[in-house]
Amino acid sequence: MAEAGAGALLQVDLGAIVANWRLLCTRHRSGAVAGVVKANAYGLGAARVAQALLAAGCRHFFTATLDEALALRPHLRRESEGGAMLAVLSGLTPGTEALYRAQGLVPVLGAAEEIALWRKFARESGEAQPAILHVDTGMARLGLTPTEVAGLAGDPTQLAGIALRYVMTHLVAAEIAADPMNQRQRQRFAAACAALPAAARSFANSSGIFLGADFASDLARPGAALYGINPTPDAANPMRRTVRLIARVQQVRTIPAGTPVGYNATWTAARESRIATVALGYADGWHRSRAGTTLAFFDGRAVPLVGRISMDLTTFDVTEHPAIIPGTWLELLGKGRDPDAVAAASGSNGYEVLTSLAPRIQRQYLDQ
Ligand SMILES: *Cc1c(COP(=O)(O)O)cnc(C)c1O
Repeated sequence: MAEAGAGALLQVDLGAIVANWRLLCTRHRSGAVAGVVKANAYGLGAARVAQALLAAGCRHFFTATLDEALALRPHLRRESEGGAMLAVLSGLTPGTEALYRAQGLVPVLGAAEEIALWRKFARESGEAQPAILHVDTGMARLGLTPTEVAGLAGDPTQLAGIALRYVMTHLVAAEIAADPMNQRQRQRFAAACAALPAAARSFANSSGIFLGADFASDLARPGAALYGINPTPDAANPMRRTVRLIARVQQVRTIPAGTPVGYNATWTAARESRIATVALGYADGWHRSRAGTTLAFFDGRAVPLVGRISMDLTTFDVTEHPAIIPGTWLELLGKGRDPDAVAAASGSNGYEVLTSLAPRIQRQYLDQ
């Protein structure tokens, strides 16, 4: 069995991810819907996710870093070969220009210096080079400042040799529909696009798609919703669940009342108890801070974690669950608790719960 050597398995439903992409397409009829596959597709596996989305018709992908794009490129055909655009969100670093061109990658340019680098490279290579222009409308993180946009508007030759694929911006608080920041960013983006040379636009992330027609564009860039995270946290989750995380029970022992369990003896059995030791710990990305809030599920019933979470192991009180024996798999993410629920219980967000899942957890894929 492939899982014999694994302590924990992440079962990824590629069909559900594709269904989520299709749902987002029906909500964004103004233009295309990309797949954001940064951070290894939010922990689920960028190559498999991108291939499934490509097969479904997705033609635009984004990673955060150049390294992520280089790792994905061999698994994703180029646009010129009937594949997809692959763009890098984090900006152009000096010295990487030739790699972008050789690998057919599109840089997202978010500073005057980056534009200057790409313009120089286009001139020296003697051919137009594709790029996405990132305008900052409220994040103050990446993206052209208002001063830089004004500079470009006044001197469009700064874009000489650059084939603008899209002008994009990124929403700060799209998951809160009533946040006034959304409308402010919409106005700033419209003003920036009006000042810049005409180009297709890319606006909404997952939650932005659900803000309505004002936030529609030529290309939406969802990540989280593809993977089942609720893009509308104040309403029911319209997305399908995509992951199940299960971990193996290594041992079960019965301890007398008064026996402490785990590092620093933070929990002591009040009665005779059956304790299951499970092969999942903080080195798997199940953070130590979740000790007080973790529930596992077995046969649809909750099983409480007791004691500390250690690097490779956790302990659960299974006194009420006589069917749990060594070799049983307990569910940490799934029907019982999704990543958003784990996050809500532990002061995080679903993005962090998924992207924390370590490479040591074996990924298994359910095909469409
Ligand atoms: C991560 C990211 C996205 C995707 O955001 P989600 O909230 O996961 O949909 C889109 N655009 C940019 C610039 C990003 O950094």
